[in-house]
Amino acid sequence: MNILIGSNNQHKFKEIKEIFALHKIDVNLSLPNQISSQKFEIIESGNTFEENAIIKAKAFFEIFHLPVISDDSGLEVLALGGKPGIYSSRFAGDEATDRMNREKLINELQSLGLNESPAQFKTSICFYDGDLILKAEGICKGIIITEERGNNGFGYDSLFIPDGFIYTFAQLNDEEKNKISHRANALTNFLTIFENYIINK
Ligand code: IMP
Repeated sequence: MNILIGSNNQHKFKEIKEIFALHKIDVNLSLPNQISSQKFEIIESGNTFEENAIIKAKAFFEIFHLPVISDDSGLEVLALGGKPGIYSSRFAGDEATDRMNREKLINELQSLGLNESPAQFKTSICFYDGDLILKAEGICKGIIITEERGNNGFGYDSLFIPDGFIYTFAQLNDEEKNKISHRANALTNFLTIFENYIINK
């Protein structure tokens, strides 16, 4: 079965491929840029991670007429009422860099007199084959701190310490992070339902 990963992100593609291989599910995965030279930006106009994942999966299906897997993720910080949430990538504005987003997060916590807060990363995954929608979610709980630690990763990694660890995501290597991350949890949950889908196909 050919499946399109509805993303422009090579890193996600690698992670998804590895998890499919781990589950010994034989599918042929590709990215839009491996099929077309055109770059597609889908507007994430949903109000939740799940809505955004569905919007992306349907949009890519309409373009490529292939079954699609899309995801949407972000960080929810308890002391900030769940912010930045679906605005994680543009917390400090539409043109914000990861560093600007982290600075805004640190400032917001410090302005509340806090050095840390419980937080969680969340991922929603959606598979769409033109007919059926399959959905799954994954969470990684931890705390957000206001001092950067570590150089690996991206986004808010250097500020997030997952539960049970003393290191931030940015101090863990890819292999360690991919065992416990929200995306890995979502993909594992997704593959349990996807295995049934494939059997009944
Ligand atoms: P996306 O939907 O996976 O592209 O994630 C949206 C935004 O959430 C990213 O731009 C990051 O700011 C943040 N984010 C998602 N996953 C992670 C992660 O694993 N580490 C750090 N930040 C993340």
